[in-house]
Parts: sequence; C-alpha cells; structure tokens
Amino acid sequence: MACLFCRIVSGEIPAKIAYRDDDVVAFHDITPQAPAHVLLVPTRHVSSLNDLTPADQELVGKLVYRAAQLAGELGYAERGYRTVFNCNAEAGQTVFHIHLHLLAGRSMGWPPG
Ligand code: AMP
Ligand code: ZN
Repeated sequence: MACLFCRIVSGEIPAKIAYRDDDVVAFHDITPQAPAHVLLVPTRHVSSLNDLTPADQELVGKLVYRAAQLAGELGYAERGYRTVFNCNAEAGQTVFHIHLHLLAGRSMGWPPG
C-alpha cells in the first residue's frame, strides 16, 4: 500500500494543499508546531534522506526553493522561518516519505530539542 504522503500526493487522503506542481506538493501539517507549519514533499516516493541519489539533487533544491517562496507568500520572509528535514529515529522522523518542514510565526529555540 502507498505510504501516507503518497496518498496525500494522489489526493486519496485529503490535506490542506498550499502548493502543487509535477515535482513538489506542499500541505499544512495536521498537528502544527507553529502558527505556520507546512510540509513539502516530492511527488515521487523517497523514504528518507539516506535514500537520495545524485539524480535527486535538483529535486531537493526544488523543495528548499519552494519552501522559501511559500515563506514569503505567507509573510515570513523578513521575520524568519525554519526549515527542517528529520532523518530516521533519533531525529524524530515518523513518516518515511521525505518532507521538508517549514515552520514560522514564533521564535524558535536553538539548539532544537
Ligand atoms: P516527521 O516527524 O519529521 O516525520 O514529520 C511528520 C509530520 O507529518 C508530523 O509533523 C505530523 O504532524 C505530520 N502528519 C502526519 N499525518 C499527517 C496528515 N495526514 N496530514 C498532514 N500532516 C500529517
Ligand atoms: Zn510515499
């Protein structure tokens, strides 16, 4: 069976879509950790950052670029925002289809928990 985020990409599971093109889908996190919390995923399934190949480098660039565009559209370019990829257990990855978190709208601590 397709993974959760593949099912969101296909429309089988509903999500609040913020952006979509052939390569990237962005949708609002179901449990937001900040006033703005968007997940950006590739339309093609990649389980974790460990599974990226050299051919995926442009795709990852598209995720980061789109996150920056969305941050600007949402009004957070100047205030600032955080982008995060979690990879595997110690980083807290729970959905194994790579996703870039875009978090904005509050002060962020550093180092992260
Ligand atoms: P991670 O812990 O980095 O794997 O992040 C997974 C994220 O997916 C979490 O922030 C969840 O709140 C979010 N999430 C899980 N299920 C859904 C869903 N159905 N729609 C939107 N976001 C989801
Ligand atoms: Zn998937």
